[in-house]
Amino acid sequence: MHDRLFESETFGQRLDLQRYRRPWVLAPHPDDEVFGCGGTLALWAQLGVTPRVSLMTRGDGQLGTAPSATEREHESAAAARILGYETECWGLPDRGVRCDLALVDRMVQALQDHQPDVVLCPTLTEPHPDHQATTLALACAMARLNQRQSLPDVLLYESGGALTNVTSLVDISPVWSLKDEALQCFESQETVQPYRARIQSRDHFRAMTLGAETRAAEAFLRVDCSAQGWPAWVAALEPVYLHRRGQAAVPDDLPLVSVLIRTVGDAHLERTVASVRAQTYPRLDVVVVAAHGVAQAPQALRTDGEAGVRWICPGGSLSRPQAANAALEAARGDLLIFLDDDDLWAPEHVHKLVAAYRTSGQARAVHTDVSVIDTQGRELTRYDQPYAPQRLAFTNIFPIHSVLFERSLVAMQGCRFDEALPVLEDWDFWLQVSEHTPVLHVPGTSAFYRWRDRSGLESGGHAHHHREWRDRVLSRWLGRWSEPVLIQAISWYTGALDAATQRGAVAQAEVQRQQAAAQDWHAKADAALQRCVALEQSRDEARRESEQAAKQLEQAVYEGTAAAERAVAAELQRRELAEQSLRESAQLQQEWRLDQARWSDLLQSARDEISGLQATIAELRGSTSWRVTAPLRWLSGLIRGPRR
Ligand SMILES: [Zn+2]
Repeated sequence: MHDRLFESETFGQRLDLQRYRRPWVLAPHPDDEVFGCGGTLALWAQLGVTPRVSLMTRGDGQLGTAPSATEREHESAAAARILGYETECWGLPDRGVRCDLALVDRMVQALQDHQPDVVLCPTLTEPHPDHQATTLALACAMARLNQRQSLPDVLLYESGGALTNVTSLVDISPVWSLKDEALQCFESQETVQPYRARIQSRDHFRAMTLGAETRAAEAFLRVDCSAQGWPAWVAALEPVYLHRRGQAAVPDDLPLVSVLIRTVGDAHLERTVASVRAQTYPRLDVVVVAAHGVAQAPQALRTDGEAGVRWICPGGSLSRPQAANAALEAARGDLLIFLDDDDLWAPEHVHKLVAAYRTSGQARAVHTDVSVIDTQGRELTRYDQPYAPQRLAFTNIFPIHSVLFERSLVAMQGCRFDEALPVLEDWDFWLQVSEHTPVLHVPGTSAFYRWRDRSGLESGGHAHHHREWRDRVLSRWLGRWSEPVLIQAISWYTGALDAATQRGAVAQAEVQRQQAAAQDWHAKADAALQRCVALEQSRDEARRESEQAAKQLEQAVYEGTAAAERAVAAELQRRELAEQSLRESAQLQQEWRLDQARWSDLLQSARDEISGLQATIAELRGSTSWRVTAPLRWLSGLIRGPRR
């Protein structure tokens, strides 16, 4: 140890970018590649090296505001065009990146296919869980490839966090304006917080040790895997710091879990193994014991490496307990869990159990809830009662794939499956386990038990056979249990029985109450039904009446119309006649007027004529001749007779 160190010993040196020809960048979200190492990527592009950039997610599940995935991808692609490369996206869920077998497999494949000489990914001390999981998955992939191919160097970059141990610095002054332009592409992120200003401040700060002429720099923790292999990774990380916050720095920080599968060639085996491979927990050792004596694994299961299964065939056909013991012997994990060949797990099953085991501190076994499903996947019942030693003492409460336990229980305490038991061998095994540890209950269903007639758990089938073997197992254990243990168990059951009886009485009362309520309801329903019938009848009657009334109305309207029409016709006729007589009277009047005029004319002329004649007469009477002739006229008057 030294009391002090020089800058060159403690801080990053200039990184020679020319040493790498095939860089591969892992960016958890579309922007990390630019924030963390955009300047470095632009410098590579100017050197004629095309970096390969893989985005893990499309960035669509951001907290708070959520710009569309397409928007963020477009921003990232625009930045890539400025800096000189292209991106691809792996489409993992944003905030859901897990260091699981699927991601590790994909990284192994990419490392094999593209043979990068350097991989850039976020530092493990980043705050974002997707960043941590991406880098740990890379570590798992590298660990798996260790000694199979030469490993690339790793440059851990800063995106959302800061490195505490910078080993390498890249002077990005020549491409400063390009990086600035690329940063401006991320408009959607800028609305979340002023990333551009923050990244630029950080890049300015990182130039501190490179001299006044350096405008900006990007900092890395270089892990020299190409020269030193896998141990370089382990040495370079800050396990103490990461462990203190409960984060794995290397795959070995996660306990290896052996998944022990007994198979008799069930058709569902592949699906069962698929549910194992879908686990979010990354360190699994999958052991399949061929109890049917078939030496070779089915084609679909023949993959190599940590991700594959180990097919164990001791030869000949094995009984269930023999197969279980063969699996226990083959297991390499620190923790073990069985899975029968047609049962299933939810993806988080092992992760959940391991997490509970690690936080419990004292339980060497943990169990969780199991849903019993039929062939259509419908839930029939559920095993969700928490472990109690007394409960386990008299019946098997654990489906075999619900318990994760330490291998030390096998290796140190010698727990084994009794090969003399044709059924209930698992119950006997859990009884052995429970002699050495409590079994911690983790609530929540994450395993599925496909219902069929099996001997492991109590079932309706072969009830008699079961009862017989149950009694044998029980009598064996009764002999082993001390008097205080038995007394404790019996008092527990007495208490449980009392409680159950009380619950039964309460339930009975409730049933009666419900029955009474149901009867009441039935009566009400009947009354309502009758009322409905009556209402329907009266409704029909009303309908009939209304139809009749409508008809009558129609008739009346019809008749009324006819009468009105007749009246109108009569009226018209009457008016016609009146007009006719008016016209005639007018004509008569006119004619009368004409006649009157004519008569008055005639009268006038007659008067005129009379007055003329009178004048003539007067003249005549006055004349001599008249007087001379008077005797004559008198005579002629006599002759003619009196005047008329
Ligand atoms: Zn990110």
